[in-house]
Amino acid sequence: NLSEKLQRSFKTLRGQGTITEENISDAMREIRLALLESDVNLEVVKDLVEHIRVKAMGTQVTTALSPSEQIVKIVHDELVTLLGKDIAKFRTASQPPSVVLMAGLQGSGKTTTSAKLAQWLKKGGHRPMLVSVDVYRPAARAQLAVVAKSTGVNLYEGKLDESVQNGTPEVLRLAKEAKKEAANFGCDILIVDTAGRLGIDAVLMDEMAELKKLLNPSEILFVADAMTGQDAVNSAKAFNDLLTITGAILTKMDGDARGGAALSIRQVTGAPIKFLGTGEKPDAFEPFHPDRIVSRIMGHGDIATLLERAESTLDKGKAEAFAKKALGGQGFTLEDFREQLRQIKKMGSMKSILKMLPSVGPFAGMAQAAENVDESQFTRVESIINSMTNKERQNADLINGSRRKRIAAGSGVTVAEVNNLLRQYAQMSKMFKTMGGGMGGGMKAQQRL
Ligand code: GDP
Ligand code: MG
Repeated sequence: NLSEKLQRSFKTLRGQGTITEENISDAMREIRLALLESDVNLEVVKDLVEHIRVKAMGTQVTTALSPSEQIVKIVHDELVTLLGKDIAKFRTASQPPSVVLMAGLQGSGKTTTSAKLAQWLKKGGHRPMLVSVDVYRPAARAQLAVVAKSTGVNLYEGKLDESVQNGTPEVLRLAKEAKKEAANFGCDILIVDTAGRLGIDAVLMDEMAELKKLLNPSEILFVADAMTGQDAVNSAKAFNDLLTITGAILTKMDGDARGGAALSIRQVTGAPIKFLGTGEKPDAFEPFHPDRIVSRIMGHGDIATLLERAESTLDKGKAEAFAKKALGGQGFTLEDFREQLRQIKKMGSMKSILKMLPSVGPFAGMAQAAENVDESQFTRVESIINSMTNKERQNADLINGSRRKRIAAGSGVTVAEVNNLLRQYAQMSKMFKTMGGGMGGGMKAQQRL
């Protein structure tokens, strides 16, 4: 990852007074590569690297930070500045109902995100209403109706006039009715889910422009699939040129996306990223924190989000009891192992969790491992532990050859898999012992990064 690469290329710099053009070019190459790997658009990368080069040039090497640490800091600060230091505010109109117009290509996540946003606003004390003006695909309107129902958010269904040829006039009529309905119903925010196309096309764009004119929205949010990286940049530009978007929402951040699309979209449109979608469920949605995404790109992980997620899903009492026991030298049993697996599963996919860990220091390799995670593996491990007796779970030493055979048969796996699990368990329990004894040392190593 970026941070590690920089540290390496700057090892040789130690002891020199200033960072010079010559010793910077290596680092610049690394930065370029790492940004490209994070899916940042090529043009955006060029701009960024130039900015960083100018900043880094002639920077005095201080005694507090090594040159490599200084470069890492410059890159970090530059990325945060680009993304905007603070969390972008959600804008409302002075006269309710405020209208939020959702824009984006088909499949980007507009419908799902409309429902998520509605739920988020509802939790924040608003009274949102949803409407879908996708008159082209009946299934799309039905899809919104389903999620609206499941989250208990008001929906304006309206009726399509079968005799009218479906098209922009119908879209505008529905939108107008919905805004009126929202006002009558005392809803302060109307979220308008729109039709998407597979690519930018003139009809869609005209329709969006007409919707904007009609509704005078306080937010025009461009929804982009973070996995599409480069393509998202082109459509962001097209939508922004036409509509002047007020913000962007990146969806599918729970997948392999590295977050580079956030930088590109911001750079190309100037609009802030406002929210992230992190899963298919209505609550897999969070305000965008620029510094956190930068940490993720730089390889420092996204511990803040991870902790937040842990806090909201984990059983605190259980977690504390576990930490006390495991780190307090009382040992870590297979029973604890199973309980931890269950708690972790509640937090989301293993892949998404591992991705948030720093990829330097004690967690090195975890993000890499995330690429190869087989989620079904966790269910298998759990079923293996389920097939053990209570005594075996408390004392793994009991589990000899014949017991291994029995456990394998009971859980429908091979003996090799049981052996594997026991080996992993042994490693973990060793790790907990060292952590319990050496917390101080571990913390120090973290701080240096
Ligand atoms: P639309 O065509 O723009 O309305 O896109 P949809 O809302 O129908 O979403 C397309 C697909 O992406 C659906 O299968 C959604 O469940 C999925 N999806 C949307 N947002 C997310 C997300 O944040 N994470 C994941 N994993 N899937 C998402
Ligand atoms: Mg849709």
